[in-house]
Amino acid sequence: NKQVILNNHVSGFPKESDMSMTSSTIELKVPHDSNGVLVKNLYLSCDPYMRPRMKKLEGSYVESFKPGSPISGYGVAKVLDSGHPGFKKGDLVWGMTGWEEYTLIATPQSLFKIQHTDVPLSYYTGILGMPGMTAYAGFYEVCSPKPGEYVFISAASGAVGQLVGQFAKLLGCYVVGSAGSKGKVDLLKNKFGFDEAFNYKEEEDLNAALKRYFPEGIDIYFENVGGKMLDAVLLNLRLRGRIAVCGMISQYNLDKPEGVYNLMTLISKRIRMEGFLVLDYYHLYPKYLEMIIPHIKEGKIVYVEDTAEGLESAPPALIGLFSGRNVGKQVVAVACE
Ligand code: NDP
Repeated sequence: NKQVILNNHVSGFPKESDMSMTSSTIELKVPHDSNGVLVKNLYLSCDPYMRPRMKKLEGSYVESFKPGSPISGYGVAKVLDSGHPGFKKGDLVWGMTGWEEYTLIATPQSLFKIQHTDVPLSYYTGILGMPGMTAYAGFYEVCSPKPGEYVFISAASGAVGQLVGQFAKLLGCYVVGSAGSKGKVDLLKNKFGFDEAFNYKEEEDLNAALKRYFPEGIDIYFENVGGKMLDAVLLNLRLRGRIAVCGMISQYNLDKPEGVYNLMTLISKRIRMEGFLVLDYYHLYPKYLEMIIPHIKEGKIVYVEDTAEGLESAPPALIGLFSGRNVGKQVVAVACE
């Protein structure tokens, strides 16, 4: 059983040498006193929240990875054997699994059974999985959006951002995204239908850039990056603006988070800034599927993935998230059904 293990707790930017490939033996059967499931992993998901898990965490909603043990994360898998009444051999599932070829999942209650198989299976790491639910809950439940509002999204071409922008367009909002390369800016405008997009790395003054795209100000900011971008947005919000704090990837590799200086605008502009975790919204998953599956089939929502091939490519793919190497949702294809 080939595995990717974390070698050590990480500080600063993660490196490939923080992880290594190893292999162990595994019996391809569930032990008879277990109600777990044994799965063959097909696709693994690289997600930014995995970076905090590479260090020692205290009081967090997620657990640290254990040095010497396989990395865990979301994935799509096929059940090979089951000691749980809810799952049987041959079922396709998505949820928490290991970065290895085969995983014995001791608590399968949190796995989702895949019902729709006439869409790419890898979508269950993205649009039909955790990032999809994040975009859906974050936009519709946290942002309180209304047609015609001005919406700004950072890390807009990524797994979550590309969907938030398309949801906002479907609702009739004016949508602008920021991303880190010309290719990504083109994607935002030409593939995802954003009204405007800009490369934040080419802007010396983010405040001026936002004023250019939002002369009347921003109603909704879908926050994925934090730091300087957040500070600039705070100067450009409209009265009763909203900030959905989804993530702050620019801060994840810093020992000390950067200062944010313009928070007082929250008071004068009566702004609501709300953090959220997708974990609190999974009860909406069936409702989300009902909405999103027809949209995918009718081509009303598109999804761009960046697929790395083979378990060996998982460490560089994960690290690539923090320099923006991924174009769209970063997936690792591990095996065929
Ligand atoms: P993406 O697919 O967007 O990948 C990460 C992207 O972040 C990179 O491609 C890069 O794009 C951008 N980035 C990396 N470093 C920086 C930096 N220093 N400054 C600005 N941008 C940077 O990831 P996801 O869509 O999966 O996640 C987006 C955000 O949502 C993350 O902050 C993540 O932690 C958060 N999240 C939160 C959840 C929740 O429950 N609250 C659940 C899931 C995700 P570029 O080239 O544009 O710089």
